[in-house]
Amino acid sequence: MALLVQKFGGTSVGSVQRIQEVAKKIAASKDLGHDLVIVVSAMGHTTDELTNLAKAISNNPPQRELDMLLATGEQVSIALLSIALNELGIQSISMTGSQVGIVTESSHGRARILEVRTERLRTLLNAGNVVVVAGFQGTSLSSVGTAEITTLGRGGSDTSAVALATALKACACEIYTDVPGVLTTDPRKVKEAQLMQALSCDEMLELASLGAAVLHPRAVEIARNYGTKLVVRSSWTNEPGTTLTSTAGRSLGREGLELGRPVDGLELLENQSVLGFAHLPDQPGVAANLFEALSKGGVNVDLIIQASHEGNSNDIAFTVHAEAINKAKEICEHVVKQLGGELSTQSGMAKLSISGAGIMGRPGIAATLFETLSRAGINLRLIATSEVKVSCVIDSKLGVKAQRAVTDAFELNDNQVKINPGVTGLGEPAVRGVALDPNQAQVNVRNVPDKPGTAASLCSILADAGISIDAIVQSERKHQNGGRDITFTLKKSDRQIAGAALTSLLAKWPNSFLEDGPAITRISAVGAGMPATAGTAARMFRALADSNINIAMIATSEIRTSCVVAEKDGLAALQAVHSHFGLDKSN
Ligand code: ADP
Ligand code: ASP
Ligand code: MG
Repeated sequence: MALLVQKFGGTSVGSVQRIQEVAKKIAASKDLGHDLVIVVSAMGHTTDELTNLAKAISNNPPQRELDMLLATGEQVSIALLSIALNELGIQSISMTGSQVGIVTESSHGRARILEVRTERLRTLLNAGNVVVVAGFQGTSLSSVGTAEITTLGRGGSDTSAVALATALKACACEIYTDVPGVLTTDPRKVKEAQLMQALSCDEMLELASLGAAVLHPRAVEIARNYGTKLVVRSSWTNEPGTTLTSTAGRSLGREGLELGRPVDGLELLENQSVLGFAHLPDQPGVAANLFEALSKGGVNVDLIIQASHEGNSNDIAFTVHAEAINKAKEICEHVVKQLGGELSTQSGMAKLSISGAGIMGRPGIAATLFETLSRAGINLRLIATSEVKVSCVIDSKLGVKAQRAVTDAFELNDNQVKINPGVTGLGEPAVRGVALDPNQAQVNVRNVPDKPGTAASLCSILADAGISIDAIVQSERKHQNGGRDITFTLKKSDRQIAGAALTSLLAKWPNSFLEDGPAITRISAVGAGMPATAGTAARMFRALADSNINIAMIATSEIRTSCVVAEKDGLAALQAVHSHFGLDKSN
């Protein structure tokens, strides 16, 4: 007999009939002797409908009132499911987030869970109840000490479920949904998408944040940090679905369930060289040809970043191990002869990375890293960000100084710091899944000073405004006054706030200004085996080139490669990359 937390999503409880089906499924688990806490979402599209009602009255409804409104959706489904269970003869009781002791921060609309006070739940379970809990909601204690209803953010019922499972030390958290599990991509976009039996929480965190909406990223973060067993399965079948694996497993501390230490690792990789191209032609196939040539020449490339500038030419920079610099240079010089552009090389570089599941959604973390390096007078040559990692390429002579400063800034211990670690991901697939995120916008900041602190100032101002940026790329080319361009992507919905937040900073930099890029979508490939599999990025670029799709930006991190393409090319890009890596075939 096990204690299980099972979560059923909106489609799974979308009608009375479906609620009755779910009740039967729960009854079957109960018959096996399990203790059950059930978390449910609002029925079908209820949350959207409630949001639209508010929007029909106001463009800017108070967040507190929105939470009040949206939380009612889940209250309907818990009551109905509990009625259905009782009808089947199963003793059941429904509970709102506040009744069940889900205590959150006070930030309405995106509250993080601080703790789950499990006493009442335990008592109800001990009395033989199936406890049906409203997902997506909790309670905060406001400044005057009275309880307020909060919500966790759209899709947040997954997070409620994993938080409950973690606090109760349940055997597993099972997420029942309208697909058989986590697939290689969204089956609504690519019908050949295949089920994965297992993947790591780190891979899922990347995928979930890059467009694979099957799981709320914060749910994966909790599972990863506390080692909670997480399974995604179909509501309609008894198939085992997908199991998420994690190596971590800290115990619940005092700092708040979702507020635990966001950074738990640092790596310094020395002996790196940077090769940079300016003014390469902006046309399909350039990145594919370049990185294929490097791959064929046996050169293993680590970070790659690319952005187009002045509308018609690209800058590309990438890192290789110092041993490969001569070979890489020879290949690149050949490419320059064929395609034009200017090549620069820089040896004696190091890559410093911080990692941790809490980096995602907390823009202040990258900003703190950049500020720490800037205070130590260290210039950032390249930056690569992902959901679980932020890396910077810096002068190797300053590597140890940087490592000490960053270790202190994030209060890391010796076990968490690795100098020149070996390659990870041996034997793992280079690409496990592909995701498309159409909600990104591209912004260029022209003519920023090329000196320590520039990226730090940009990121910290945006972080203070609550904005996470991704794919941040500095141009290889310089303006006449020595300035460079910085390009980044951010959520479309954050674009206005970002513009307002940056106004005063840009006023301090002569001739710099903000410019919107064209309509884009971001396609990302994720796989734990990527660092151990040479040529993976080249294969992705080839898939896009063969479909005649131009790449506007490239940003890689250890286990993911992302390309920004024109919005109109998004779906074709997803299909091309998915099939190029053979993800459409069962194995
Ligand atoms: P629920 O209401 O159960 O929470 P969601 O709509 O939030 O369900 O998530 C399930 C949906 O996620 C699926 O219907 C599917 O279209 C979408 N999805 C996107 N990417 C993936 C993926 N890689 N694997 C599975 N489903 C995905
Ligand atoms: N009902 C909420 C939403 O639609 C929470 C959830 O379904 O996870 O976003
Ligand atoms: Mg969901």
